[in-house]
Amino acid sequence: MIKVVKFGGSSLADAKQFRKVGDIIRADESRVYVVPSAPGKRFSGDTKVTDLLYRCYDAAKEGKSFRDPLNDIRSRYNEIIKGLGLTVSLDDKFAEIEKSLASSPDKDYTASRGEYLNGILMAAYLGYEFIDPSEVIFFTEEGSLDARKTKQILGQRLQQVKKAVIPGFFGQGFDGRVKTFSRGGSDITGSIVAGACRADVYENWTDVSGFLVADPRIVDNPAAIKTITYKELRELSYMGAGVLHEDAIFPVRREGIPINIRNTNRPEDDGTWIVESTCQKSGYTITGIAGKKDFCAVLISKDMMNSEVGFGRKVLQAFEESGISFEHMPSGIDTMTVVVHESEFMDKEQQVVSTIHRLADPDAIEIESDLALIAVVGRGMKAQRGTAGRIFAALAHAHVNVRMIDQGSSELNIIIGVENRDFETAIRAIYDIFVVTQL
Ligand code: ASP
Repeated sequence: MIKVVKFGGSSLADAKQFRKVGDIIRADESRVYVVPSAPGKRFSGDTKVTDLLYRCYDAAKEGKSFRDPLNDIRSRYNEIIKGLGLTVSLDDKFAEIEKSLASSPDKDYTASRGEYLNGILMAAYLGYEFIDPSEVIFFTEEGSLDARKTKQILGQRLQQVKKAVIPGFFGQGFDGRVKTFSRGGSDITGSIVAGACRADVYENWTDVSGFLVADPRIVDNPAAIKTITYKELRELSYMGAGVLHEDAIFPVRREGIPINIRNTNRPEDDGTWIVESTCQKSGYTITGIAGKKDFCAVLISKDMMNSEVGFGRKVLQAFEESGISFEHMPSGIDTMTVVVHESEFMDKEQQVVSTIHRLADPDAIEIESDLALIAVVGRGMKAQRGTAGRIFAALAHAHVNVRMIDQGSSELNIIIGVENRDFETAIRAIYDIFVVTQL
């Protein structure tokens, strides 16, 4: 049994957290490959080491002093070294970072040092080998992961090492320099390592006990999700349910490796299992609810639209020409609605409207703003009658006006558009009907 364990920044924020991580790793012999993030926040209002590194880079780039943030970073690591009683010194590494910042500051290289240094400490603490990701994780010329090369070289390397620490968040760019993933990218590294060694499980340790049915900022004490499929997760993450980086599912999904989200501060909790497919019923008809505010609906109407070949394409082309991606597109016989992010659309709205007129010659175009979208997701919905009925009854009781409905053909989710101001009420009403009263 091989487990790849990734620990997020808050799990490694100080020596006390490092100790918890050490206990977790030592409690299970199969936890052999460890992927650490950079030290995160120790308390609310604290600054992550990665953010401090970006500050160093920003200052260096403008020729300003980066001494203060760099000293803050140094003391964070020194505290960990002292707290754990380690004998390693990072002085040489800091000298290198300082030199690079002073001579030719490089954004990705600088940012990656948070994970790099934490990896060195973690390897010393555990007595594991250290693997530098810039020797084993590669990017393509376009800047995305070179999955084939990485799998081959990283896979070979892991075969030679029984236990290792591989820092998260970065690898080697096509130009040979250090390149990072987007923020939160250590999750991706964990997944890549799990895929390359064909792990049995990819454990992703963070500061929550997995995914919750709804956002705890909206619903009090929401139920936890025990098992969720990759597809369900994708729908929920897209709609704003954080915890795991969106791209982290692909490398393990390809190999059929489950992800187990766990809580470093409550290792006794089972957390959430993310799997390809399952016969486990979720506790409720729905698996989760997530949503986002601030969408815009562009309503386009034209008599006889239904019989005009190519109308939809022309409308979408107008959005494409302005570089705007659309989220949903419910349509009627003579109407079509394109839902977009308000922030993306706002500055280009008149350009889009005139292009639609030019390309598709509609009768009218109306724009409605302040729309919130809520995704109700669940693999169990397909087999259950009345799910939509229950959602809409609950919303009607809560006096929420439904502005849009879109059910994907997978029947995995129902998307509901409501006004921004009804967003929280709507989520609570849906949660109540499926989870609290279970009607
Ligand atoms: N340290 C990086 C960040 O803060 C990557 C990660 O934590 O996953 O985004």
